[in-house]
Amino acid sequence: MNWPGRVVLLLAIAVSVYFFWRKFGRALRIIREAKPDADFHLRPIWPRVRKVLWEVGAQGLVIAQRPLPGLAHAFVFWGFCVFALVTVNHIALGFGHPFLSRSSGWGPIYFLIAAIFAVAVAISITGLAIRRFVIRPKWLEPLSPESGLIAFLIFALMITYLATFWVPEGDAAGWALWWAHTAVLLFFLPVIPGTKHMHLVVSPLTIFLERDSFSKIPPLVGDEDFGLIAGKDVTQLVALQAYSCVECGRCTEHCPANNTGKILNPKEIILGTRHYLNEFGPKSEEPLLGKYLSMEAAFQCTTCGACEFQCPVGIQHLPVIVGLRRGAVNTGKWENSYGAEMFVTLERQGNVLGFPPSDREKFIEKNGLPYYDGTQEYCLWMGCLGSFDPNGRKILLALVEVMNHLGITFGVLKQEKCSGDPARRLGNDYLFGELAQNNLEQIRENGLNGSGANADGVKAKKMVSICPHCVRTIGEDWKEHGGNVAIEHHSELLARYRDKLPPNGGGQKSMVFHDACYLGRYRGVYDQPRDVIARYGKVVDPPRARQRGFCCGGGGGLMFLGEESGKRVNLERAQELVATGASVVAAACPFCNSMLRDGLAATTSTPPELLDVAQIAAAAIGGKSAARSD
Ligand code: SF4
Ligand code: SF4
Repeated sequence: MNWPGRVVLLLAIAVSVYFFWRKFGRALRIIREAKPDADFHLRPIWPRVRKVLWEVGAQGLVIAQRPLPGLAHAFVFWGFCVFALVTVNHIALGFGHPFLSRSSGWGPIYFLIAAIFAVAVAISITGLAIRRFVIRPKWLEPLSPESGLIAFLIFALMITYLATFWVPEGDAAGWALWWAHTAVLLFFLPVIPGTKHMHLVVSPLTIFLERDSFSKIPPLVGDEDFGLIAGKDVTQLVALQAYSCVECGRCTEHCPANNTGKILNPKEIILGTRHYLNEFGPKSEEPLLGKYLSMEAAFQCTTCGACEFQCPVGIQHLPVIVGLRRGAVNTGKWENSYGAEMFVTLERQGNVLGFPPSDREKFIEKNGLPYYDGTQEYCLWMGCLGSFDPNGRKILLALVEVMNHLGITFGVLKQEKCSGDPARRLGNDYLFGELAQNNLEQIRENGLNGSGANADGVKAKKMVSICPHCVRTIGEDWKEHGGNVAIEHHSELLARYRDKLPPNGGGQKSMVFHDACYLGRYRGVYDQPRDVIARYGKVVDPPRARQRGFCCGGGGGLMFLGEESGKRVNLERAQELVATGASVVAAACPFCNSMLRDGLAATTSTPPELLDVAQIAAAAIGGKSAARSD
């Protein structure tokens, strides 16, 4: 190219980079100026690298979750990687210094590989555009013109590259084609940071820096931290994630609240945070709940984790949602009579159902449950529902029968308070902390030192619980208060002993298993409960199962908040379970049990039998627990 052409090229690049940086630099500044994440640890690094290689490099998550569109997206991504070198060479050619030749060295091979990818990218981007603008799944709404523009630009880049195989390099037509490709490229660059395509640049970093555990609620730091109240409370990770959203709507597609007609839309929670930061900045005192984020939506979340699980770019919604709840609860802005009553009940009685603790003692004595004294193998955590709720008690007694049958020694704590799960998820950290500390004292006094071994370092290793919410809260959330309690869910325990359970007595009932969010997505336990009940019947999955399991509607404290707007989540789930035609609905969580019991009764006058995994195993050994709840 002659020198005037090179000057024009240089100016065009400068303008393009300037407009790119204007928006990108601003976003970077906002992220950098946000509050540091006090609990963030970069190490260990290898799991982070592995995650980036799998989720970004191999596009494993995207393909696994949506094979066809995922593969299309993967081809676009891999095409971009291949084209990085082609693009640098393209610009170098403009300045007269290409380093890849079309006729010698490894250039021809590379250009050919790039051509194959160009075809794949052109087909993929066309398919993705058809899906977005013609098929139009509702979670991709509202239609974004910028997506159409980007799709067109990517398509144009591929076509102008492929055309070079027919138009000779160096003559007038060749240079015209070269300029066409360059123009698309330089127009594309500044479009990236102002649109969802910002994820092209930041999502590898977002995935690398993700918080280290699923749906983790970060600790409050110091006396002045009350949660997410204003821009000044937004942390760097939250800001980075807000700028990474690709607006794919997967979180919304799987959100039980959104699916049942509530206003909560997890995508809008993330985009709302981005809009807030763009308008008010990370140091602002402007309340977060207002123009872009709604208190009503934040309190409709069941904390099921489906959004976080589905997100292809590592966005963690729950620290934001629970953070907003914390801000509203700790500043007294959340006014909900059910919630207020529940907090008072927890403070006064120490359990969420409002029974006097003496009722638990009577239940223990009447059923001859041994107290934990440090010599047994397991400390059996009863939980609020196992202690007071008639159906929860049945599940607990069923587990007791099975443990006795298996010869597993256990004992219960003399005193127990709620693990603090509903208080924690609803944002009442003060109450959660009191409950956690109180329980930790009890545990230490009773022989478990809170770090998994008993006082003498012998035999007693673990706690076991029928409630996945307690397992999560005790095992993870209590760490904030010095707890380091080894605890597992009873389905994990029973699965280890399944060969010692009696086999099927001849019946082949069809059983549909409902995955509890806090057992499945939170803990990764999918096979164990199925392994146990598979001994007693034919296990079927509902359409939404395992990682995509649909919530019962009871998590996040919502079981105790009364009315729901829209359709009830438990009804939606119960209808799906009934539609499988199974004669038994198997559950593994007392919250699910309670929610589904109502949902099933509202769905049909002849509902399938609803049983916990422990009850199914207990029935096989001739247990009597199903009838006892007092
Ligand atoms: S945690 Fe569940 S209910 Fe809450 S926003 Fe995410 S998907 Fe929706
Ligand atoms: S938060 Fe994640 S899953 Fe939801 S729209 Fe954004 S990128 Fe997609």
